[in-house]
Amino acid sequence: MSRASQAAHHDTTTPARDPRALLRRHGLRCTPSRLRVLTLFSASQLHLAVTEVSERLARAGRAVHATTVYRTLETFTAVGLAHAVHGPGATRYGITEEPHHHTVCQRCGHVAGLASEHLTKAAGKLEELTGLRPDSSGSLLVYGLCARCCR
Ligand SMILES: [Zn+2]
Ligand SMILES: [Zn+2]
Repeated sequence: MSRASQAAHHDTTTPARDPRALLRRHGLRCTPSRLRVLTLFSASQLHLAVTEVSERLARAGRAVHATTVYRTLETFTAVGLAHAVHGPGATRYGITEEPHHHTVCQRCGHVAGLASEHLTKAAGKLEELTGLRPDSSGSLLVYGLCARCCR
């Protein structure tokens, strides 16, 4: 196995939205299934479970087996390209470089991104208040019932 040299390659002019550049920046090879998964997420900004990802890809005529989707998302998470949100039910994954928080429905497990500067500032004070140091995303989880489950 030869390891491709990734040194001395600056990508500063490549837009972050380019899935190939994004994979390369995280030291990952561009495989068709990785590109499919990544493209789905960059077009949607959604937080999806493995089965939802493979269903959406199949519907778009770009099927990737659920096992491969799972492995792909685990790989993305390990290198910091994706993040996993553990609510009730299946783990949801999100891929976005924008800092954000999450809402989690306690009934159906629906996860939504929540971008809020106020919350990010509040999260910054967490260590002061609790001694817990937020990780780089400083992400907060807000539990409740989603609009669909409230009906
Ligand atoms: Zn997220
Ligand atoms: Zn719900």
